[in-house]
Amino acid sequence: MSSKLVLVLNCGSSSLKFAVVNAENGENLISGLAECFNLTDARLKWTINGKKESTSLPPMSAHSEAIAYIVDHIIKKETGLASKFVAIGHRVVHGGEKFTHSVLIDEDVINSIEKCISLAPLHNPAHILGIRAAQVAFPELSQVAVFDTAFHQSMPAKAFMYALPYELYKEKGIRRYGMHGTSHLFITQEAAKALHKPISEVNIISAHLGNGASVTAIKNGQCVDTSMGMTPLAGLVMGTRCGDLDPSIIEHLIAHEGYTLEQVMDILQKQSGLLGISGISSDFRTITEEHLKNNPRATLALDMFCYRLAKYIASYAVPLGRIDALIFTGGIGENSALVRQKILELLSIFSYHLDTEKNATTILGKSGIISAKNSPVVMVIPTNEEWVIAQDAVALVAKSALIGA
Ligand code: AMP
Repeated sequence: MSSKLVLVLNCGSSSLKFAVVNAENGENLISGLAECFNLTDARLKWTINGKKESTSLPPMSAHSEAIAYIVDHIIKKETGLASKFVAIGHRVVHGGEKFTHSVLIDEDVINSIEKCISLAPLHNPAHILGIRAAQVAFPELSQVAVFDTAFHQSMPAKAFMYALPYELYKEKGIRRYGMHGTSHLFITQEAAKALHKPISEVNIISAHLGNGASVTAIKNGQCVDTSMGMTPLAGLVMGTRCGDLDPSIIEHLIAHEGYTLEQVMDILQKQSGLLGISGISSDFRTITEEHLKNNPRATLALDMFCYRLAKYIASYAVPLGRIDALIFTGGIGENSALVRQKILELLSIFSYHLDTEKNATTILGKSGIISAKNSPVVMVIPTNEEWVIAQDAVALVAKSALIGA
Protein backbone atom coordinates (compact mmCIF):
# COMPACT_ATOMS: atom_id res chain seq x y z
CA MET A 1 0.00 0.00 0.00
CA SER A 2 1.15 3.51 -0.81
CA SER A 3 2.42 5.61 2.07
CA LYS A 4 0.85 8.77 0.59
CA LEU A 5 -2.50 8.56 2.36
CA VAL A 6 -4.44 11.63 3.41
CA LEU A 7 -7.49 11.82 5.64
CA VAL A 8 -9.75 14.33 3.88
CA LEU A 9 -12.36 16.04 6.05
CA ASN A 10 -15.27 18.13 4.84
CA CYS A 11 -16.96 19.49 7.96
CA GLY A 12 -20.43 21.02 7.75
CA SER A 13 -22.47 22.49 10.59
CA SER A 14 -24.47 19.30 11.20
CA SER A 15 -22.46 16.71 9.29
CA LEU A 16 -18.96 15.62 8.37
CA LYS A 17 -17.83 13.84 5.21
CA PHE A 18 -14.54 11.99 5.35
CA ALA A 19 -12.34 9.96 3.03
CA VAL A 20 -9.00 8.21 3.24
CA VAL A 21 -7.47 9.06 -0.14
CA ASN A 22 -4.36 7.76 -1.87
CA ALA A 23 -2.80 11.00 -3.13
CA GLU A 24 -0.95 9.13 -5.89
CA ASN A 25 -3.97 7.80 -7.76
CA GLY A 26 -7.04 9.39 -6.15
CA GLU A 27 -8.35 6.06 -4.86
CA ASN A 28 -10.73 6.32 -1.88
CA LEU A 29 -9.87 3.53 0.57
CA ILE A 30 -12.56 4.53 3.05
CA SER A 31 -15.26 7.14 2.70
CA GLY A 32 -18.15 8.07 4.91
CA LEU A 33 -20.59 10.55 6.35
CA ALA A 34 -21.39 11.44 9.97
CA GLU A 35 -24.66 13.34 10.27
CA CYS A 36 -27.41 14.64 12.57
CA PHE A 37 -24.87 16.35 14.85
CA ASN A 38 -26.19 17.67 18.17
CA LEU A 39 -29.31 15.52 17.82
CA THR A 40 -30.27 12.33 19.63
CA ASP A 41 -29.96 10.27 16.42
CA ALA A 42 -26.40 11.29 15.47
CA ARG A 43 -25.03 8.55 13.22
CA LEU A 44 -22.18 7.50 10.96
CA LYS A 45 -22.11 5.49 7.74
CA TRP A 46 -19.07 4.51 5.75
CA THR A 47 -17.80 2.31 2.94
CA ILE A 48 -14.64 0.26 3.33
CA ASN A 49 -13.33 -2.16 0.68
CA GLY A 50 -16.66 -1.72 -1.12
CA LYS A 51 -18.61 -2.82 1.98
CA LYS A 52 -21.17 -0.44 3.49
CA GLU A 53 -21.34 -0.14 7.29
CA SER A 54 -23.13 2.14 9.74
CA THR A 55 -23.49 2.86 13.44
CA SER A 56 -25.27 5.27 15.72
CA LEU A 57 -23.08 7.77 17.56
CA PRO A 58 -23.68 8.77 21.20
CA PRO A 59 -26.65 11.20 21.36
CA MET A 60 -25.69 14.86 20.73
CA SER A 61 -22.37 13.86 19.11
CA ALA A 62 -20.68 16.45 16.92
CA HIS A 63 -17.33 16.90 15.14
CA SER A 64 -14.95 15.75 17.88
CA GLU A 65 -17.00 12.64 18.79
CA ALA A 66 -17.37 11.71 15.11
CA ILE A 67 -13.65 12.14 14.41
CA ALA A 68 -12.76 10.14 17.56
CA TYR A 69 -15.03 7.29 16.38
CA ILE A 70 -13.60 7.38 12.85
CA VAL A 71 -10.04 7.21 14.24
CA ASP A 72 -10.60 4.65 17.03
CA HIS A 73 -13.13 2.30 15.43
CA ILE A 74 -12.56 2.55 11.68
CA ILE A 75 -9.03 3.70 10.88
CA LYS A 76 -7.16 2.00 13.74
CA LYS A 77 -8.96 -1.31 13.03
CA GLU A 78 -7.24 -1.40 9.63
CA THR A 79 -3.76 -2.56 10.61
CA GLY A 80 -1.07 -0.01 9.87
CA LEU A 81 -3.35 2.38 8.02
CA ALA A 82 -2.99 5.36 10.39
CA SER A 83 0.83 5.10 10.23
CA LYS A 84 0.63 5.68 6.43
CA PHE A 85 -1.10 9.05 6.85
CA VAL A 86 0.95 11.98 5.56
CA ALA A 87 -1.47 14.75 6.49
CA ILE A 88 -5.04 15.73 7.19
CA GLY A 89 -6.66 17.80 4.40
CA HIS A 90 -9.61 20.05 5.23
CA ARG A 91 -12.05 21.43 2.69
CA VAL A 92 -12.69 25.05 3.70
CA VAL A 93 -15.53 26.85 1.91
CA HIS A 94 -14.48 30.46 2.33
CA GLY A 95 -10.99 31.91 2.35
CA GLY A 96 -12.01 35.44 1.39
CA GLU A 97 -9.33 37.31 -0.59
CA LYS A 98 -6.51 36.07 1.61
CA PHE A 99 -6.10 32.56 0.27
CA THR A 100 -5.23 32.01 -3.38
CA HIS A 101 -3.77 28.55 -2.73
CA SER A 102 -3.95 25.73 -0.20
CA VAL A 103 -1.92 26.29 3.01
CA LEU A 104 -0.52 24.42 6.00
CA ILE A 105 -2.72 25.25 8.97
CA ASP A 106 -1.30 27.22 11.89
CA GLU A 107 -2.94 29.59 14.38
CA ASP A 108 -2.71 32.51 11.90
CA VAL A 109 -4.58 30.48 9.27
CA ILE A 110 -7.26 29.50 11.79
CA ASN A 111 -7.65 33.18 12.73
CA SER A 112 -8.03 34.09 9.05
CA ILE A 113 -10.68 31.37 8.52
CA GLU A 114 -12.42 32.82 11.58
CA LYS A 115 -12.34 36.30 10.02
CA CYS A 116 -14.24 34.94 6.99
CA ILE A 117 -17.10 33.60 9.17
CA SER A 118 -19.41 36.46 8.17
CA LEU A 119 -19.00 35.36 4.52
CA ALA A 120 -19.78 31.68 5.26
CA PRO A 121 -21.61 31.65 8.60
CA LEU A 122 -22.73 28.01 8.33
CA HIS A 123 -19.50 26.54 7.00
CA ASN A 124 -16.41 28.27 8.40
CA PRO A 125 -17.26 27.75 12.12
CA ALA A 126 -17.76 24.04 11.37
CA HIS A 127 -14.40 23.87 9.55
CA ILE A 128 -12.67 25.32 12.63
CA LEU A 129 -14.38 22.75 14.88
CA GLY A 130 -13.18 20.02 12.49
CA ILE A 131 -9.62 21.36 12.41
CA ARG A 132 -9.45 21.56 16.23
CA ALA A 133 -10.84 18.02 16.59
CA ALA A 134 -8.38 16.66 14.00
CA GLN A 135 -5.48 18.40 15.77
CA VAL A 136 -6.44 16.54 18.97
CA ALA A 137 -6.87 13.20 17.16
CA PHE A 138 -3.64 13.51 15.11
CA PRO A 139 -1.29 15.85 17.03
CA GLU A 140 1.73 14.60 15.05
CA LEU A 141 0.28 15.26 11.58
CA SER A 142 0.24 18.46 9.50
CA GLN A 143 -3.18 19.85 8.72
CA VAL A 144 -3.82 21.51 5.37
CA ALA A 145 -6.65 23.86 4.37
CA VAL A 146 -7.91 23.72 0.77
CA PHE A 147 -10.26 26.60 -0.06
CA ASP A 148 -13.30 26.46 -2.34
CA THR A 149 -12.72 30.12 -3.16
CA ALA A 150 -8.97 29.92 -3.95
CA PHE A 151 -9.19 28.96 -7.64
CA HIS A 152 -11.50 31.93 -8.32
CA GLN A 153 -9.10 34.54 -6.92
CA SER A 154 -7.67 35.09 -10.42
CA MET A 155 -10.93 36.77 -11.56
CA PRO A 156 -10.43 40.35 -12.73
CA ALA A 157 -12.24 43.14 -10.85
CA LYS A 158 -14.73 43.65 -13.69
CA ALA A 159 -15.94 40.08 -13.08
CA PHE A 160 -15.81 39.92 -9.28
CA MET A 161 -17.19 43.38 -8.42
CA TYR A 162 -20.88 44.05 -7.84
CA ALA A 163 -22.12 47.41 -9.14
CA LEU A 164 -22.51 48.70 -5.59
CA PRO A 165 -20.74 51.61 -3.88
CA TYR A 166 -17.00 50.82 -4.03
CA GLU A 167 -16.65 51.21 -0.25
CA LEU A 168 -18.82 48.11 0.29
CA TYR A 169 -16.10 46.13 -1.45
CA LYS A 170 -13.12 47.91 0.08
CA GLU A 171 -14.42 48.13 3.64
CA LYS A 172 -16.82 45.19 3.92
CA GLY A 173 -15.46 42.66 1.40
CA ILE A 174 -18.72 42.54 -0.58
CA ARG A 175 -17.77 40.92 -3.91
CA ARG A 176 -18.10 37.72 -5.93
CA TYR A 177 -15.84 35.00 -4.51
CA GLY A 178 -17.17 31.88 -6.27
CA MET A 179 -17.31 28.34 -4.90
CA HIS A 180 -16.60 24.75 -6.12
CA GLY A 181 -13.10 26.04 -6.95
CA THR A 182 -11.43 22.75 -6.06
CA SER A 183 -13.68 20.92 -8.53
CA HIS A 184 -13.17 23.49 -11.30
CA LEU A 185 -9.39 23.27 -10.73
CA PHE A 186 -9.50 19.47 -11.02
CA ILE A 187 -11.55 19.74 -14.23
CA THR A 188 -9.03 22.22 -15.66
CA GLN A 189 -6.13 19.86 -14.90
CA GLU A 190 -7.92 16.86 -16.41
CA ALA A 191 -9.06 18.86 -19.45
CA ALA A 192 -5.48 19.95 -20.12
CA LYS A 193 -4.41 16.28 -20.14
CA ALA A 194 -7.30 15.28 -22.42
CA LEU A 195 -6.70 18.17 -24.83
CA HIS A 196 -2.91 17.55 -24.83
CA LYS A 197 -2.21 21.17 -23.90
CA PRO A 198 -0.32 22.80 -21.06
CA ILE A 199 -2.74 24.12 -18.40
CA SER A 200 -1.56 27.65 -19.15
CA GLU A 201 -3.01 27.37 -22.69
CA VAL A 202 -6.38 25.83 -21.84
CA ASN A 203 -9.62 27.78 -22.38
CA ILE A 204 -12.65 25.87 -21.06
CA ILE A 205 -16.09 26.24 -19.55
CA SER A 206 -16.56 23.94 -16.56
CA ALA A 207 -20.17 23.20 -15.52
CA HIS A 208 -20.27 21.59 -12.06
CA LEU A 209 -23.89 20.42 -11.77
CA GLY A 210 -24.84 18.76 -8.50
CA ASN A 211 -27.18 19.68 -5.65
CA GLY A 212 -25.18 22.90 -5.68
CA ALA A 213 -24.29 24.02 -9.20
CA SER A 214 -21.86 26.51 -10.69
CA VAL A 215 -20.28 27.22 -14.05
CA THR A 216 -16.83 28.75 -14.49
CA ALA A 217 -14.98 30.36 -17.40
CA ILE A 218 -11.31 29.36 -17.41
CA LYS A 219 -8.85 31.22 -19.65
CA ASN A 220 -5.23 30.12 -19.96
CA GLY A 221 -5.86 27.75 -17.03
CA GLN A 222 -7.17 30.49 -14.71
CA CYS A 223 -10.67 31.38 -13.58
CA VAL A 224 -11.89 34.58 -15.24
CA ASP A 225 -15.57 34.41 -14.23
CA THR A 226 -17.91 32.16 -12.28
CA SER A 227 -21.63 31.97 -11.54
CA MET A 228 -21.66 31.73 -7.73
CA GLY A 229 -21.29 35.00 -5.89
CA MET A 230 -20.32 36.23 -2.45
CA THR A 231 -22.09 33.06 -1.27
CA PRO A 232 -23.20 29.80 -2.94
CA LEU A 233 -26.76 31.17 -3.38
CA ALA A 234 -26.07 33.03 -6.64
CA GLY A 235 -26.08 31.88 -10.25
CA LEU A 236 -27.70 28.72 -11.57
CA VAL A 237 -30.97 27.08 -10.56
CA MET A 238 -29.93 24.48 -7.94
CA GLY A 239 -31.53 21.65 -5.95
CA THR A 240 -33.10 23.92 -3.33
CA ARG A 241 -31.32 27.26 -3.99
CA CYS A 242 -32.83 29.94 -6.22
CA GLY A 243 -29.66 31.22 -7.91
CA ASP A 244 -29.88 34.71 -9.44
CA LEU A 245 -32.92 36.85 -8.68
CA ASP A 246 -33.94 40.49 -8.42
CA PRO A 247 -32.83 41.61 -4.92
CA SER A 248 -35.99 43.72 -4.57
CA ILE A 249 -37.98 40.49 -4.18
CA ILE A 250 -36.49 40.19 -0.67
CA GLU A 251 -37.65 43.68 0.27
CA HIS A 252 -41.08 43.04 -1.29
CA LEU A 253 -41.67 39.81 0.65
CA ILE A 254 -40.64 41.42 3.95
CA ALA A 255 -42.24 44.87 3.55
CA HIS A 256 -45.45 43.86 1.75
CA GLU A 257 -46.07 40.16 2.33
CA GLY A 258 -45.25 39.82 6.04
CA TYR A 259 -42.26 37.47 5.86
CA THR A 260 -39.32 37.78 8.24
CA LEU A 261 -35.78 37.94 6.87
CA GLU A 262 -35.11 34.45 8.31
CA GLN A 263 -38.15 33.05 6.49
CA VAL A 264 -37.12 34.64 3.20
CA MET A 265 -33.56 33.32 3.48
CA ASP A 266 -34.91 29.87 4.31
CA ILE A 267 -37.07 30.04 1.17
CA LEU A 268 -34.17 31.15 -1.03
CA GLN A 269 -31.75 28.55 0.32
CA LYS A 270 -33.88 25.54 1.17
CA GLN A 271 -37.28 25.78 -0.56
CA SER A 272 -36.42 27.12 -4.02
CA GLY A 273 -34.62 25.76 -7.09
CA LEU A 274 -35.80 22.45 -8.54
CA LEU A 275 -37.74 21.70 -5.34
CA GLY A 276 -39.55 25.01 -5.26
CA ILE A 277 -40.45 25.07 -8.94
CA SER A 278 -41.54 21.43 -9.20
CA GLY A 279 -43.11 21.12 -5.74
CA ILE A 280 -41.85 17.52 -5.87
CA SER A 281 -38.15 17.10 -5.20
CA SER A 282 -34.70 18.65 -5.31
CA ASP A 283 -33.35 15.37 -6.70
CA PHE A 284 -32.68 15.55 -10.42
CA ARG A 285 -33.51 11.87 -10.96
CA THR A 286 -37.03 12.42 -9.59
CA ILE A 287 -37.44 15.61 -11.65
CA THR A 288 -36.42 13.68 -14.79
CA GLU A 289 -38.80 10.78 -14.05
CA GLU A 290 -41.72 13.16 -13.47
CA HIS A 291 -40.84 15.15 -16.61
CA LEU A 292 -40.97 11.92 -18.63
CA LYS A 293 -44.45 11.31 -17.14
CA ASN A 294 -45.50 14.74 -18.47
CA ASN A 295 -45.67 16.43 -15.06
CA PRO A 296 -45.73 20.11 -16.19
CA ARG A 297 -43.99 21.53 -13.13
CA ALA A 298 -41.18 18.99 -13.35
CA THR A 299 -40.79 19.97 -17.01
CA LEU A 300 -40.73 23.65 -16.03
CA ALA A 301 -38.03 22.97 -13.40
CA LEU A 302 -35.95 21.05 -15.95
CA ASP A 303 -36.41 23.74 -18.60
CA MET A 304 -35.49 26.56 -16.20
CA PHE A 305 -32.40 24.64 -15.01
CA CYS A 306 -31.20 24.17 -18.61
CA TYR A 307 -32.18 27.63 -19.87
CA ARG A 308 -30.32 29.45 -17.06
CA LEU A 309 -27.27 27.22 -17.50
CA ALA A 310 -27.18 27.67 -21.29
CA LYS A 311 -27.44 31.46 -20.90
CA TYR A 312 -24.48 31.46 -18.49
CA ILE A 313 -22.40 29.26 -20.79
CA ALA A 314 -23.17 31.48 -23.80
CA SER A 315 -22.19 34.59 -21.83
CA TYR A 316 -18.73 33.14 -21.14
CA ALA A 317 -17.90 33.50 -24.82
CA VAL A 318 -17.26 37.15 -23.84
CA PRO A 319 -14.31 36.63 -21.46
CA LEU A 320 -12.97 33.55 -23.26
CA GLY A 321 -13.00 34.45 -26.95
CA ARG A 322 -11.89 30.91 -27.81
CA ILE A 323 -13.45 27.85 -26.14
CA ASP A 324 -11.38 24.63 -26.33
CA ALA A 325 -13.98 22.52 -24.53
CA LEU A 326 -17.25 22.65 -22.64
CA ILE A 327 -17.10 20.23 -19.73
CA PHE A 328 -19.87 18.69 -17.63
CA THR A 329 -19.26 17.34 -14.13
CA GLY A 330 -21.06 16.76 -10.78
CA GLY A 331 -23.89 14.27 -10.16
CA ILE A 332 -26.15 15.79 -12.84
CA GLY A 333 -23.40 16.75 -15.30
CA GLU A 334 -21.84 13.28 -15.14
CA ASN A 335 -25.09 11.32 -15.39
CA SER A 336 -27.86 13.25 -17.12
CA ALA A 337 -27.56 12.67 -20.86
CA LEU A 338 -30.85 14.58 -21.14
CA VAL A 339 -29.46 17.79 -19.62
CA ARG A 340 -26.36 17.63 -21.82
CA GLN A 341 -28.52 17.14 -24.92
CA LYS A 342 -30.80 20.05 -24.00
CA ILE A 343 -27.85 22.35 -23.28
CA LEU A 344 -26.25 21.68 -26.66
CA GLU A 345 -29.60 22.26 -28.39
CA LEU A 346 -29.93 25.63 -26.61
CA LEU A 347 -26.36 26.49 -27.65
CA SER A 348 -26.84 25.58 -31.33
CA ILE A 349 -25.63 29.07 -32.34
CA PHE A 350 -22.13 27.83 -31.34
CA SER A 351 -22.47 24.89 -33.81
CA TYR A 352 -22.48 22.22 -31.10
CA HIS A 353 -23.50 18.74 -32.29
CA LEU A 354 -23.95 15.79 -29.99
CA ASP A 355 -22.73 12.25 -30.60
CA THR A 356 -25.99 10.70 -29.35
CA GLU A 357 -24.53 7.29 -28.61
CA LYS A 358 -21.49 8.61 -26.74
CA ASN A 359 -23.74 10.98 -24.78
CA ALA A 360 -26.03 8.12 -23.74
CA THR A 361 -23.18 5.83 -22.65
CA THR A 362 -20.97 8.38 -20.88
CA ILE A 363 -22.48 7.99 -17.40
CA LEU A 364 -21.67 6.31 -14.07
CA GLY A 365 -18.20 7.70 -13.53
CA LYS A 366 -17.06 7.51 -17.17
CA SER A 367 -15.22 10.37 -18.81
CA GLY A 368 -15.06 11.13 -22.52
CA ILE A 369 -15.93 13.33 -25.47
CA ILE A 370 -19.68 13.41 -26.19
CA SER A 371 -19.66 15.86 -29.13
CA ALA A 372 -19.78 14.81 -32.79
CA LYS A 373 -16.71 15.12 -35.03
CA ASN A 374 -18.04 18.30 -36.72
CA SER A 375 -18.67 20.02 -33.36
CA PRO A 376 -16.64 22.07 -30.89
CA VAL A 377 -15.46 19.71 -28.14
CA VAL A 378 -17.85 18.78 -25.30
CA MET A 379 -16.66 16.42 -22.59
CA VAL A 380 -17.77 14.71 -19.41
CA ILE A 381 -15.14 14.49 -16.65
CA PRO A 382 -16.08 13.01 -13.24
CA THR A 383 -14.86 15.40 -10.58
CA ASN A 384 -12.65 14.34 -7.67
CA GLU A 385 -12.25 17.17 -5.16
CA GLU A 386 -10.88 14.81 -2.49
CA TRP A 387 -7.97 13.93 -4.74
CA VAL A 388 -7.03 17.60 -5.21
CA ILE A 389 -7.16 18.06 -1.43
CA ALA A 390 -4.98 14.97 -0.89
CA GLN A 391 -2.46 16.06 -3.55
CA ASP A 392 -2.21 19.59 -2.16
CA ALA A 393 -1.76 18.21 1.37
CA VAL A 394 1.07 15.89 0.30
CA ALA A 395 2.76 18.64 -1.75
CA LEU A 396 2.64 21.16 1.11
CA VAL A 397 3.99 18.66 3.64
CA ALA A 398 6.84 17.73 1.26
CA LYS A 399 7.64 21.42 0.67
CA SER A 400 7.73 22.23 4.37
CA ALA A 401 10.00 19.21 4.98
CA LEU A 402 12.38 20.54 2.29
CA ILE A 403 12.36 24.02 3.81
CA GLY A 404 12.89 22.55 7.30
CA ALA A 405 15.72 20.27 6.13
P1 AMP B 1 -23.86 15.85 -6.36
O1 AMP B 1 -24.26 17.01 -5.50
O2 AMP B 1 -22.72 16.15 -7.28
O3 AMP B 1 -23.68 14.56 -5.59
O4 AMP B 1 -25.11 15.58 -7.34
C1 AMP B 1 -26.38 15.26 -6.84
C2 AMP B 1 -27.40 15.41 -7.97
O5 AMP B 1 -27.05 14.55 -9.06
C3 AMP B 1 -28.82 15.05 -7.53
O6 AMP B 1 -29.75 16.01 -8.03
C4 AMP B 1 -29.03 13.73 -8.23
O7 AMP B 1 -30.38 13.49 -8.53
C5 AMP B 1 -28.23 13.92 -9.50
N1 AMP B 1 -27.99 12.63 -10.15
C6 AMP B 1 -27.30 11.58 -9.66
N2 AMP B 1 -27.38 10.54 -10.54
C7 AMP B 1 -28.15 10.96 -11.58
C8 AMP B 1 -28.62 10.35 -12.79
N3 AMP B 1 -28.31 9.10 -13.08
N4 AMP B 1 -29.38 11.10 -13.62
C9 AMP B 1 -29.70 12.37 -13.32
N5 AMP B 1 -29.30 12.99 -12.21
C10 AMP B 1 -28.54 12.31 -11.34
